[in-house]
Amino acid sequence: MPIAIKDAWVKKLAGVTLSDIKLTTFQNRHKQEAYKGKLLFTHVGISGPTVLHMSKEVGELLKYGEVTIALDLFPGVDHTILKSQLQALLIAEINKKIKNVLGKLVPSSLVPVLLRLAAIENETPNHSVRSESRKKLVILFKHTPLSVEKLLGADKAIVSSGGVNLKEVNFKTMESRLVPRLYLVGDMLNIDRPSGGYSLQLCWTTGFVAGEHC
Ligand SMILES: Cc1cc2nc3c(=O)[nH]c(=O)nc-3n(C[C@H](O)[C@H](O)[C@H](O)COP(=O)(O)OP(=O)(O)OC[C@H]3O[C@@H](n4cnc5c(N)ncnc54)[C@H](O)[C@@H]3O)c2cc1C
Repeated sequence: MPIAIKDAWVKKLAGVTLSDIKLTTFQNRHKQEAYKGKLLFTHVGISGPTVLHMSKEVGELLKYGEVTIALDLFPGVDHTILKSQLQALLIAEINKKIKNVLGKLVPSSLVPVLLRLAAIENETPNHSVRSESRKKLVILFKHTPLSVEKLLGADKAIVSSGGVNLKEVNFKTMESRLVPRLYLVGDMLNIDRPSGGYSLQLCWTTGFVAGEHC
């Protein structure tokens, strides 16, 4: 299911997609699971294949308390390298304003958000960005916190697990073992799978087998 996020800034990014990001779940500051992939911001929170895939775990964690998701914009790059990349960018464009150059490092739609979260004034010239502010930016590049509000309801969900017990289905024909002439395919079957391609394959193949036998 898509995930509703408490932070108001997320809603301003509705429609923006980010590729090659990492999302890590935290509960009571303890790291839980990490997921790499794509992210889609929506008008209530976050969605996209990676989020749909992780939402089951987030739903479980929510039963035990608050959940935070850390967004890492540069999963393959560590803090030290990012610090020098940021420093090099600010020096190369020393007389420009930070709001006009940060987009060379991060997606431009995120620039105002990151500056606000780092408490850096948009109009600040690059030569005046303090060391403390640069440090905050680098931390945000690797760990922008998203506070989970809830999972969105079943009407917004995409099935990726749950359904009829596989022991009750004859896979040679897709006929129910309990109810003769009832054929079970696709989302009806309890096959746990990541979102993003497998479900279509599942409904096509099981639909084909059922179609051949019913
Ligand atoms: C927004 C969205 C994006 C998705 N993206 C992907 C993706 O990128 N990759 C991927 O693999 N999967 C994706 N999926 C999941 C994939 O579409 C489903 O897993 C797949 O369509 C399931 O096929 P199905 O035949 O089991 O069920 P459905 O496609 O839901 O078909 C069920 C059919 O039964 C009909 N029906 C329901 N009740 C009755 C009734 N009482 N009488 C008669 N007919 C009825 C419905 O109208 C519907 O046509 C996505 C799903 C959504 C909603």
